[in-house]
Amino acid sequence: MEIRAGTPPLGEEIADQLRVVVGADYVCTSVEDLDRYSRCTIPWQSRCMAVVFPASADEVAGIVRIAARHRLAVWPSSTGRNWGYGTTLAIEDGAIVMILERMNRVLEVNEELAYAVIEPGVTYEQFNKHLRSKGYKLWIDCTDGSGQGSVIGNAIERGIGETPYGDHFGNLCGIEVVLPDGERVHVGGAIQGLKTWHTHKWGLGPYLEGIFTQSSLGIVTKAGIWLMPQPESYNSFVYEIHDERHLPKVLDIFRRLALTGVVNTKLHMINDFVSMTILTQRIAEQVPQDGPLSDAHLAALRRKYGIAPWNCAGGIYGTRGQVKLQRSLLRQHLSPHGRLIFLSDRLLPYLQRVIDWSWKSPLIRRLTELAARTSLPVLDSAPYVHKILQGIPTEYFVKHAYYRYRRPRPEQVVQPARDRCGLIWFAPILPFSNEQVWPFLDACKQRFAAHGFDFYVAMLLMNPRSVVCLMAIIFDHEDTDETARSQQLYQELLAIMHERQFQQYRAGLQSWGDLFRNAPEMQRLHAKIKAALDPDNILAPGHYGVSCRQPIVIDNGNPR
Ligand code: ADP
Repeated sequence: MEIRAGTPPLGEEIADQLRVVVGADYVCTSVEDLDRYSRCTIPWQSRCMAVVFPASADEVAGIVRIAARHRLAVWPSSTGRNWGYGTTLAIEDGAIVMILERMNRVLEVNEELAYAVIEPGVTYEQFNKHLRSKGYKLWIDCTDGSGQGSVIGNAIERGIGETPYGDHFGNLCGIEVVLPDGERVHVGGAIQGLKTWHTHKWGLGPYLEGIFTQSSLGIVTKAGIWLMPQPESYNSFVYEIHDERHLPKVLDIFRRLALTGVVNTKLHMINDFVSMTILTQRIAEQVPQDGPLSDAHLAALRRKYGIAPWNCAGGIYGTRGQVKLQRSLLRQHLSPHGRLIFLSDRLLPYLQRVIDWSWKSPLIRRLTELAARTSLPVLDSAPYVHKILQGIPTEYFVKHAYYRYRRPRPEQVVQPARDRCGLIWFAPILPFSNEQVWPFLDACKQRFAAHGFDFYVAMLLMNPRSVVCLMAIIFDHEDTDETARSQQLYQELLAIMHERQFQQYRAGLQSWGDLFRNAPEMQRLHAKIKAALDPDNILAPGHYGVSCRQPIVIDNGNPR
């Protein structure tokens, strides 16, 4: 990436002040470092002028004080893995990017009350390993994104996971925040260490934890997080819907099962193209290398990989009796409309052995595929699904970002931003009803096709009443025309969403200019709170559209 004209270099005097706070090794200004932290999979360009890596809340406070003195923008990230939304990008050139990955201690685990206190650099993979290696009978909830993502970073963005603890902000309890003026506050508990800080979420007085999420009002430097006690029994299930005419019925059933508590996970429902992006790449298939897959090609790939038009996955947890009962209720309700398959920890090693044998022997593979009525690559993914639903993260599903990548995707270190993959997440949330969901998906699907993209949608239950219809625009970042079309498609999807009076549950950087266009009073309220806490407007100015230093302009699909 070129150094963009207009990116001011960080003055030596300011760099020295930062070095005094965090140490010389932790203030990065080299071209390579600035490149690395000015990259995302979305079509947006901005270039930071420094990257700092504080190791404590005091250092975080020291950095914001320096930034306030010089009126420099500071953009904090925990680990910066939110590909498709913006990663570590600031809206404008010239920001100081703050990465909190050195603050990666698990400070406390309380097994009796099932919570832990962690710093923002703690990743899903690290947290899961920590609990399991120390023998705690507690499970984390992870996402199907990178295991190197931050537990706190995702919760601060109000991200969602997979298990009954999948509402990540809902399970955050008691946060420490450094304010833009450098003051440290224990929100939800007294600074002296209130005993219920991590057990009672609402504190006393006006409830404030929420204003530090999806916001630019403070930097979270530690947090309590509730964990799932390891259940006596656990099963994952996958559910294939082969006839799309059953979808409305299935949606009604899922809603009823969720509302009555039979299913309490974040049920995942994906269309065939989502499966395709995980199983293969466009360059690996005999299909046209531009435009979307035709219906015939999609059908042929479905046959080749043995995947249904729609697939669902979820977990059931509890005592043996509870899991048995849940299994039979799911069977009773779902079997008439699709194929339901359960996987337990007991079966997992056998399945893994069959998969390993099948990869080695064509004959065994053929027999396995006949018996399982699907392909080996699909079977291969089942253990990953099973593990994610018990809080064991994997990079396996991040491969989807490489679907339109021109080279074979990496098998080990999957880093879509580094590899310049093209991926934009669009994350509208809808009432969980047939009346709302299907017409909206149809309208969006048409726009995908019109711009030459395959329709990717994963539906994730936010709660029994709302569903996130998560769409990915996967594009070839090396193709200028395709990149511009991806941005145009994104703008059109936003327009359809606004027109139908929906909003996103979490928003990518390119949509921030327009988030509250129908609610100027909300925009003013946000700006008032921001001005009170951050009068110099130094903390992520413009994050989620609040107090931009310059208007965000999208011109002909491109930011300028
Ligand atoms: P992840 O790596 O889990 O995807 P990130 O570290 O990329 O999470 O964080 C996602 C977004 O959340 C960041 O862009 C930033 O806006 C916000 N964020 C993350 N961590 C913090 C934090 N500790 N304090 C304030 N905001 C944060």
